[in-house]
Amino acid sequence: MNILVINAGSSSLKYQLLNPESGELLAKGLCERIGIDGKFTYKPQIEGKEVLDAVDVAMPTHSEAIQAVMNALVDEKNGVVASMKEIDAVGHRVVHGGEAFNKSVLITDEVMKALEDCIPLAPLHNPANITGINACTAVMGADVPQVAVFDTAFHQTMPAEAFLYGLPYEAYTDLMVRRYGFHGTSHKYVAGRAAAMLGKDASELKLISCHLGNGSSVTAIDGGKSVDTSMGFTPLAGLPMGTRAGDLDAGILEFLMNKYGMDIKEMVSILNKKSGVQGVSGVSSDFRDLENAFKDGNDRAGLAVDMFNYGVKKLIGSYAAAMGGVDAVIFTAGVGENGGHNRANITSGLEFMGIKIDAEKNKIRGEEIDISAEGAAVRTLVIPTNEELMIALDTAALAK
Ligand code: ADP
Repeated sequence: MNILVINAGSSSLKYQLLNPESGELLAKGLCERIGIDGKFTYKPQIEGKEVLDAVDVAMPTHSEAIQAVMNALVDEKNGVVASMKEIDAVGHRVVHGGEAFNKSVLITDEVMKALEDCIPLAPLHNPANITGINACTAVMGADVPQVAVFDTAFHQTMPAEAFLYGLPYEAYTDLMVRRYGFHGTSHKYVAGRAAAMLGKDASELKLISCHLGNGSSVTAIDGGKSVDTSMGFTPLAGLPMGTRAGDLDAGILEFLMNKYGMDIKEMVSILNKKSGVQGVSGVSSDFRDLENAFKDGNDRAGLAVDMFNYGVKKLIGSYAAAMGGVDAVIFTAGVGENGGHNRANITSGLEFMGIKIDAEKNKIRGEEIDISAEGAAVRTLVIPTNEELMIALDTAALAK
């Protein structure tokens, strides 16, 4: 069985063709500058097949982009499947499912309507996802099953005490303002892998999953269910991130807008694009750059990383309290998987709650590994995330 996984943005579209049963990746790539000057990248994973790197392909709309993907995948010389018939289903990453979706769903007319209803919650992302789905229908036909996999769905198990804000209740009942959480596909995937590594059923475990990348979120997972998470109504909440501010005192907004003479649009743009570790360091949003700058004597770069690590440590403590304990802490995504210094800093001082890592094991990269020190009561696991595989697995299960 082969599943095409699509992550559609407003002017770009990432794709992977993979076999969910074996986990084998057949090809991946990217359509960029859709509606502008169309650049197409195709990376077949089979030896001897030719890579296309940002070549010019006219893509006035997402339909031409999907057509370009199809042409490349079935190409006689460099394709990875003989025909479109060998693509059994399509899985779409959809950012926001609101309260309508607590799991992945087969796409129907009704589902499309519900996705439209979620647009106010993710005005930049959901329209692009809808366009991606329509483009696949146009190119592949209505008979190929398509599945929507939501970033928010895994967190729909949060209890009201965790998802409500301290606002007038009507903000929730009339306008759906609440914590939704994101990165759900990643948190779900690594939680499943953690259970496999520990040889236990997810229902027996209390896990804290730290997805630390450009965007970062931490999730408390009790018995396989998300019970709290650090992102909120939007992905701007929680930790200070690459360029996003994370949680802050809402009173700061009025103060800064008055002082700098900014409107709310400019304020939100600063919170999304000029804040976080980029804003504090003045150097970069990339944690590798920050580490290098600190080594070269830039203390603000060091401070930005310290703030980030401290934020993760506090979330681990609070989520252990929320669940009444923790069996394992998981590190995943760019920083979580690679940032040995970050992991060491985040976990130092948590020995009192049974968390202690082994310095040698903490150096190993790129594989699933238990980096706990001998005798530690709580396991610390590094698990490379694979959102595309998770999407393909959900898609295969629903398409069958
Ligand atoms: P995204 O959220 O865009 O998917 P990733 O999960 O790819 O992001 O994470 C990107 C982040 O991972 C970058 O800030 C990058 O610096 C960081 N990263 C990658 N390698 C390392 C490393 N060796 N040490 C620390 N951070 C790293």
